[in-house]
Amino acid sequence: VKRSKASGRAEAYQPQAFDLAREQFGMETALRRAIDRGQLRLTYQPIYDLASGKLVSFEALARWRDENGTEHQPGAFIPVAEESGLIVPLGRWAIEEAVRTMAVWDEQYGGECGVKIAVNLSAIQLQRDSIAPLLQAALTKHNLPGSRFTLELTESALVTDPDRIAGIMHALKGLGTNIAMDDFGTGYSNLAYLQKLPIDVLKIDRSFVTGMLADRDKVAIVRAILSLAQALGMETTAEGIETNELAQTLTALGCTYGQGFAYARPLEFDAAYALLENRRH
Ligand code: C2E
Ligand code: MG
Ligand code: MG
Ligand code: MG
Repeated sequence: VKRSKASGRAEAYQPQAFDLAREQFGMETALRRAIDRGQLRLTYQPIYDLASGKLVSFEALARWRDENGTEHQPGAFIPVAEESGLIVPLGRWAIEEAVRTMAVWDEQYGGECGVKIAVNLSAIQLQRDSIAPLLQAALTKHNLPGSRFTLELTESALVTDPDRIAGIMHALKGLGTNIAMDDFGTGYSNLAYLQKLPIDVLKIDRSFVTGMLADRDKVAIVRAILSLAQALGMETTAEGIETNELAQTLTALGCTYGQGFAYARPLEFDAAYALLENRRH
């Protein structure tokens, strides 16, 4: 088929849009199957107390290796899960898996292993599912207290129905969990509202942290978040700490916790446990 240059260009757009939709659909189908077949796993990135250098927790981060051996990153599949509603089964799996991991680590350790596990909750998951009863059931099953876990929510969770989300947060606090506001500084934040919520930790978004040593504006934002947290009686975690120098600066600025490639990338189950075991000695 011969086309004029102009119409060829105009029509080229449609196949692209079609490919995109098809790819999205393909990914959705594959993700649904992956959840059913247990192809998802959690990896665990250590979080340290900056002042003492102690390992205090691990953030559970989902990974998906498909049957071809391709690794899919959450940046690609979480949005698909959110759009398709698959975030509900995925999110349930993540909570149950994190609680199970804690139980296994405690058993291997021969007692409380001494770290928390932080689980990410998506805003859409909070809207569509009942997280607190689900967590409670998992805790009961493994005979663990909620205080061993942190739940990471993003500011976007507060946009649609803040009162409902506040209720969920109080229910989660009632189970003894810690609550962290993830990616803080990137979204909508009603500061007056923030104060009323049971938030323990503000997690400073990676976009402000990585590269802040070369950017005065980022330093200003990080300082502002640190003093806001202090004023509100909250702790802080900096994510995206890629260098030792950055770790030192954030410690000096009074940030409570830190996580990033300077310490470790997200680790597989066994490697995370090995780090934990090391901490004993
Ligand atoms: P997040 O919760 O803000 O997690 C931190 C992300 O920053 C992780 O990316 C982590 O690997 C990355 N990171 C940590 N330190 C560094 C660093 O020093 N440099 C760089 N370049 N990156 C660093 P990851 O694992 O790709 O996860 C991306 C996002 O996907 C997470 O952002 C979270 O919002 C979402 N996610 C991951 N697992 C789950 C899950 O089980 N449920 C839900 N709802 N969301 C999840
Ligand atoms: Mg997080
Ligand atoms: Mg984050
Ligand atoms: Mg983030």
